[in-house]
Amino acid sequence: MRAANRARKPTKRAAAAPGGGGAQTALRAKLARVGIRRDFDFVLHLPLRYEDETRIVPIPEARPGSAVQIEGEVLDCKIVFRPRRQLVARVGDESGVLTLRFFSFYPSQHRTLVAGARLRAFGEVRFAQQGLEMIHPRFHALHGEEPLPAALTPIYPTTSGLPQATLRRLIGEALGRTDLEETLPLAVREAIGLSNLTGFAAAVTALHTPPPDADERALALGTHPAWRRIKFDELLAQQLSMRRHYRERKAKRARPLAPGGTLVRELLSQLPFRLTRAQIRVWSEIGADLARAHPMHRLLQGDVGSGKTVVAALACLRAVESGVQAAVMAPTEILAEQHVRKFRDWLSRLGISVAWLTGAQSRKEREAALESVANGTAPIVVGTHALFQEHVVFDALALAVVDEQHRFGVMQRLALRGKGERRLKGSNAGGVEPHLLMMSATPIPRTLSMSYYADLDVSVIDEMPPGRRPVVTKLVADTRRQEVMRRIRAACGAGHQAYWVCPLIEESDALQLKTALETHAALAGDFPELGVGLVHGRMSAVEKAEVMSAFAAGELQLLVATTVIEVGVDIANATLMVIEHAERFGLAQLHQLRGRIGRGAAESVCILLYQNPLGEAARRRLQAIYESTDGFEIARQDLLARGPGEYLGSRQSGAPLLRFADTERDQDLLAAARQAAELMLAEFPREAQQHLDRWLGGRSEFLKA
Ligand code: ADP
Ligand code: MG
Repeated sequence: MRAANRARKPTKRAAAAPGGGGAQTALRAKLARVGIRRDFDFVLHLPLRYEDETRIVPIPEARPGSAVQIEGEVLDCKIVFRPRRQLVARVGDESGVLTLRFFSFYPSQHRTLVAGARLRAFGEVRFAQQGLEMIHPRFHALHGEEPLPAALTPIYPTTSGLPQATLRRLIGEALGRTDLEETLPLAVREAIGLSNLTGFAAAVTALHTPPPDADERALALGTHPAWRRIKFDELLAQQLSMRRHYRERKAKRARPLAPGGTLVRELLSQLPFRLTRAQIRVWSEIGADLARAHPMHRLLQGDVGSGKTVVAALACLRAVESGVQAAVMAPTEILAEQHVRKFRDWLSRLGISVAWLTGAQSRKEREAALESVANGTAPIVVGTHALFQEHVVFDALALAVVDEQHRFGVMQRLALRGKGERRLKGSNAGGVEPHLLMMSATPIPRTLSMSYYADLDVSVIDEMPPGRRPVVTKLVADTRRQEVMRRIRAACGAGHQAYWVCPLIEESDALQLKTALETHAALAGDFPELGVGLVHGRMSAVEKAEVMSAFAAGELQLLVATTVIEVGVDIANATLMVIEHAERFGLAQLHQLRGRIGRGAAESVCILLYQNPLGEAARRRLQAIYESTDGFEIARQDLLARGPGEYLGSRQSGAPLLRFADTERDQDLLAAARQAAELMLAEFPREAQQHLDRWLGGRSEFLKA
C-alpha cells in the first residue's frame, strides 16, 4: 500500500500477480468482478473506508465499539469447545489484558499465537463476560522492531476470494507504475473558478494513503478535497464524452428539411385548438434543427397531456413537404394505434396517407405497408418497434420520432440511425442520417439532463393546454371499497368513463393475469348496467386494439386494465381512475397512469386504493403523488428516492453511471465540469482525450447511442 510513495518501477509489466497462468486467470477474473481491468482501474479503485493502524492503543483505553490496534504479548492460547469450537488467546500489554476469539481459524494462525509471541492485532473491541475482546481480529506476529504505517489503512470494495491484502499490494504496485499526470490544465481550472481544486496525483495519493491526521469525517462523507477532485474528474469525463458525441453529430450530415411549406400551415389552421405558447416555442426549436444539414437529436419533454403529439405531427409534415419520409415509433401497440388514428384524423384532410406497421396486422396488410414504405408512397408511417426491424426498408427516411423514448433501449435507438435515405445511396449517400426527435413524458430533472443527456438538445413544454383542470387525487384505504364503487356508478351514470387499474404483480405474470381476469369478472358482476372491458398484456395486439377502440368509442364505460395503459392513452371522456394496490407502483408509473385522466374539461378524480400497513417508502411515494401533479416535481422526488442508476436504468441512458459523483449532491461540480468540457474540447484536445482514456477506457464506444 505504501508503495504509492515508492519510487516508480522502470518497467511496465502487466497488472497481475505472480503465480501460474491458472492462478493469474483466476485473479484476473476476480479483479474484473470489481471492475479492474487495467492499471488505471486500480488507481480509481478507491477505498470505502479506512482503519487506523498508525497508532497503538493501550488496552485499557480501547473503547468497546471502536476498531483499534493493540500490541502485546500472547499470555496463553487454547482451543475450547464450549459453546462451540473456537480458538481463544489472551494478549496483555503493560496495562491490561484482552481476549482474541476465533470461531474459524487456520492451523497457521494457531501456531502464531503461542505464549510469549509479540503481536499486533486490529479489530473492533467489545465488552464480554471476561472483559475486553476482539472477534476475528486481523493480527500478525512482531519480530523485532517494526515501524507503524505512516498512512491510514484503506479498505477497498472487494469480492470473495480477493483479500484486502492482495488488493492493497496490487493497487500499490499499480500506483507505482502508473502515470498520474495532470489532465486538467491550469488555465481551465482558473477559467471555471476552481483554481484551488486539488491536483489529480495528490487526490489519488490522499485517498489511497491518507496521513494519520487526515479529516476522517470528510473522507467518509466524500466532502474531502481529494474526493471532490475525483468526483469532478468523473463528471468531466462524462461531460467530455457526451459533448464530444454532440460535436461529432454536428459534423454528420442529414437532409435539411426546409421551412415554409404549406402543409404545416394547413394543419395549424385546421386543428380544433391553438397551440400553447410552449408548443409554439418547442416547435420553432425543432423546426430550426430540421432545417439544418446535420442530424437533429432532440429530446422533447413535456408532462403527460402537455400536447407533444401534435408537435410530432408538425415535424413529420416538414419531411412530407420536402418529399421525404417520417416515421413515428411508439412503445406499445395501443399507443401506436392511437397515434395512427390521431394522425389520420389530422392529416387525411390534407390528403396525406399515414401507413402503419405493427404486430396487430394481418400479413397482407403488413406487406402492403412495407411496400408503401419502401417505394415512398407512404410519406408517414406510424408503428411499434416493428418499424425498425431489419427487413423494413425506407425509401427516404429523413425524420424518426420516438415517442416515450425511455421505453426503448439503446439498441433500438441505434437501429433507427441505420435507416437513412435509400434514395441517396450511391454517389451521394455516405453517412446521411435521419433527424431524430425523442419525446418523453417522464421528465428528466435538470441535473440528470445536464449529465446523462448532455449529448442531446432538449426542448421542454412547460405549460398545459388551457381549460385543463388538475386531477383530484384521493388516497383511500382498501377497506373503503364501497365508496369507490359509488363513485364509479356516479361517473359512468353521468356519461363519463372510468379506468380500473389492476395491482402490479411483478413476481408473476400469471398471477397478474389471474388478478386482472378476476377483477374484471367481479366488476362486471357489480355493474351489470355498464359495459365493462378488459385489457392486459397477454392479449394479442388485435384484441387490445379492439378493446381500446370500443372504449374510445364509448361502447365500454369501465375499462379494467393492467399497466398496458400506462403511457400515452388519450381518451378525454375518461374522468375517473381507480388504482388498486397503489402502494406497489413506482412514482413515475403512478404519475403516468394518472395522466390518462384529466384530459377533458370535466373534473377528474384519481383514487389510489392502498392496503395497510404501508411501508415507509410506499407511504412517501403515495404522499408525493397525492401532494403534487407536477411531473417535474414528482420526477425529482423519484430521483431522490431511487438514485440515478435505478431512475434511468442503464438501458435508457446508455451512459456509464457515475461511481463517485452524485448529480444532485455535486451540482456545483457538475456545472463546472460542463464548462470545463467545452473549454477542453475547444482548446486542449490532447488533455481531453487523455482524460477520457483514463476514465472511460474501453467503455466510451458504448456511449455512442
Ligand atoms: P402528451 O404530451 O401526453 O403526448 P397529447 O399529445 O396526447 O399529450 O395531448 C393530449 C391531448 O391534448 C390531446 O387530446 C391533444 O389533442 C390535446 N391538445 C394538444 N395540444 C393542445 C392545445 N394547444 N390545446 C388544446 N388541446 C390540445
Ligand atoms: Mg403522448
